[in-house]
Amino acid sequence: MTHPAQPTASHFINGAYVEDTSGTEIPVIYAATGERIATVHAATPDIVEQALSSAKAAQKEWAKMTGTERGRILRRAADIIRDRNHELSVLETYDTGKPLQETLVADATSGADALEYFGGLAGSLTGEHIPMGEDWVYTVREPLGLCVGIGAWNYPTQIACWKGAPALACGNAMVFKPSETTPLCALKVAEILHEAGLPAGLYNVIQGMGEVGGALVTDPRVDKVSLTGSVPTGKKVYAAAASGMKHVTMELGGKSPLIIFDDADIDNAVGGAINGNFYSSGQVCSNGTRVFVHKNIKEEFLKSLAERTNNAILGNPLDEETNFGPMVTENQMNIVLGYIEKGKAEGARLICGGERADMDGYYIKPTVFADVTDDMVIAQEEIFGPVMAVLDFETEEEVIARANATEFGLSAGVFTNDLSRAHRVIGQMEAGSCFINSYNDAPVEAPFGGVKASGVGRENSKEAINHFSQVKSVYVRMGDVEAAF
Ligand code: NDP
Repeated sequence: MTHPAQPTASHFINGAYVEDTSGTEIPVIYAATGERIATVHAATPDIVEQALSSAKAAQKEWAKMTGTERGRILRRAADIIRDRNHELSVLETYDTGKPLQETLVADATSGADALEYFGGLAGSLTGEHIPMGEDWVYTVREPLGLCVGIGAWNYPTQIACWKGAPALACGNAMVFKPSETTPLCALKVAEILHEAGLPAGLYNVIQGMGEVGGALVTDPRVDKVSLTGSVPTGKKVYAAAASGMKHVTMELGGKSPLIIFDDADIDNAVGGAINGNFYSSGQVCSNGTRVFVHKNIKEEFLKSLAERTNNAILGNPLDEETNFGPMVTENQMNIVLGYIEKGKAEGARLICGGERADMDGYYIKPTVFADVTDDMVIAQEEIFGPVMAVLDFETEEEVIARANATEFGLSAGVFTNDLSRAHRVIGQMEAGSCFINSYNDAPVEAPFGGVKASGVGRENSKEAINHFSQVKSVYVRMGDVEAAF
């Protein structure tokens, strides 16, 4: 790849690109063609040490700056990202295979939103005054210190910013490890933050697999770990962080329900199901992959869904007409094809798709199964690909119980024109991020995160501040101290 925005080395540490070719070679494969477009090297213990020690050294001075000064740098970085949106979006497309039609509006722009939002909040982070008669208590909102961010491969720019922006706004330093599958974009985030004036060491990016993530999570200098990844990885990372009594945010997987009642606007409901299953070729944690459709409208819904899904344009992700890209890797494609075979073997009715597309790259046709039952594997496990399971239901009570009958709890959606029912149903959903007559909106202003096995903590919104800072409370006595003796 010869791309103007291509990072120039594997790591970004202490304000500069750093290479160490003695680390394990990690090929970067373009999912649309299977070609190697770049190579990075996993961090060696020396690189891990450089990243952690420079972050640790830089953090105290950063925390002493005013929030307004910190925020100004973040907002400047947001402006640079927006100015360079096109080249950063092309890089995101090379990193992930996602179509440019999506990356132009959903990735660098979402990262810029986070930097702008948390940059704006930084100057208003204060404690409170609590009167106690003559005495009083005041609280101080302090940074946690050194934070580690570990990312999944589906939104490499967004994840790097969603973690970095609130961490930096609160006065922390961050060491970020992207997924080995998509190592490029976070490096650009680091480069741009420093171009915007971030002092060296405050946002370092190092590459590697789980082993490098593990070294970061267990280091005693680290105060907080924020992971976006799968539930099994989340359990391991949470346990490792717990042994060092570190703060955590866990943004993990899901198998979220999308419930469509028979009074819903069918076109909107079909649109919601498409957005909630096929955006980013289905590689979205919050996807509503269990689509419960009332039996009265099931066939009408399926007919429209199949027609619209068959209109998806699979092709060169860099062509802005393309609206459906490949799976991120060959391995992920094979995992998803395996689930499709399971769906067929379990007797689900294939409505469309159901196979690899006949073209280069790791493309799977958007797939819809109907007549799916709760006990099928495709209704229970997170597939993380373009496979929608449509299940029937008859009553509100029944569908609420079935929607909640999962270990996951990331998202839930409902389509209905009955206002009371919409709120009643969402009120009973065991999920962190919910939608009424919509699906998968994730503005930076709204908290994002899961319940149950889907995670702990929240990203985005003012909530994220609570997860990247801690409160010190100070009791101030105005009179004499009374003592027993
Ligand atoms: P993984 O859980 O496989 O990996 C996530 C990250 O953790 C990667 O950077 C990985 O490194 C790293 N890692 C793996 N093992 C360890 C370990 N023992 N210690 C520290 N770090 C480790 O997830 P994927 O990358 O496959 O992403 C897909 C998953 O992410 C899905 O389950 C999806 O639902 C979830 N996700 C959740 C989101 C949310 O906000 N809730 C958003 C997006 C995705 P490496 O891969 O390089 O080995």
